[in-house]
Amino acid sequence: MKQIALAIALTAIGDTHALPPALRCAVNPAVFEALPAPGPNDWLANHPERGQTFDDFVSSHPNRPTPQQHTIYLQPLGTFDVEPALSRLPSRLRVGSTSVETLKEFTEAFFMMPVVVRPPLDLATAKITTRTNPYTRQRQLLTTDILSYLKRQLPADAYCMLGITMIDLYPDPAWNFVFGQAALRDRVGVYSFARYEGVARRSCKVVAHETSHMFGIEHCIYFRCVLNGSNHLAESDARPMHLCPVDLRKLQWSVGFDVIERYRRLRAVCERAGFADEARWCQREIERCGK
Ligand SMILES: [Zn+2]
Ligand SMILES: [Zn+2]
Repeated sequence: MKQIALAIALTAIGDTHALPPALRCAVNPAVFEALPAPGPNDWLANHPERGQTFDDFVSSHPNRPTPQQHTIYLQPLGTFDVEPALSRLPSRLRVGSTSVETLKEFTEAFFMMPVVVRPPLDLATAKITTRTNPYTRQRQLLTTDILSYLKRQLPADAYCMLGITMIDLYPDPAWNFVFGQAALRDRVGVYSFARYEGVARRSCKVVAHETSHMFGIEHCIYFRCVLNGSNHLAESDARPMHLCPVDLRKLQWSVGFDVIERYRRLRAVCERAGFADEARWCQREIERCGK
């Protein structure tokens, strides 16, 4: 890393002297790639953000899982797997449709918290408003209806609940569409994979990114990181699936997991899902810091 970028990154990571050795190693910025300067259409060129250091994060008093509220719920809205015939194949062969099982395993390993997939929601019974988009002629669901439904359904042991769907979403009759909706302090959110063509890797990244926001973690401006903001599909595809040292330290502070154990679980999930580069990345970190 360049000296100036390194100095900023070190400030963002904060003082690591008192950390256990494996965690201290895992948040050492030396092997991570700095976020390059944004191109004209990229997120940071259009949404300047000052960045959230580890110390900023802690002093924002973010929501944190507790022994009573420590489960992440995934609530599929409508049918998830596009083709029922495909869902009988092992998940690694299902690159064209999102496998809920892969998403569950990945989310569990990423956050090191129990993840429960609820039975698919019947949209008519739940009284979710739908419309046909006047331009695309696609069916769309109203996000505000979904969020109020999820809030009413929030189980007692839920840290948060995420609606996930292959159906397109809209937040307001005046809008064309929206990828998803949640906020830093909300415990419910909803994300559609309809515009991602249901690719498993993209859905895992979206869930990791958006769920991290529910822990109070803001966009990352320091490194290439799953928390980088994105303005267009190419930019979201360029995001890695992993957390940089700044955000790994935040999530570890919040959940309290063992970083090496987390990388072992993530490596196993990534291998099964066919995310070979991410599995290699986890392996490298295990070798580097797992001694
Ligand atoms: Zn975001
Ligand atoms: Zn980051």
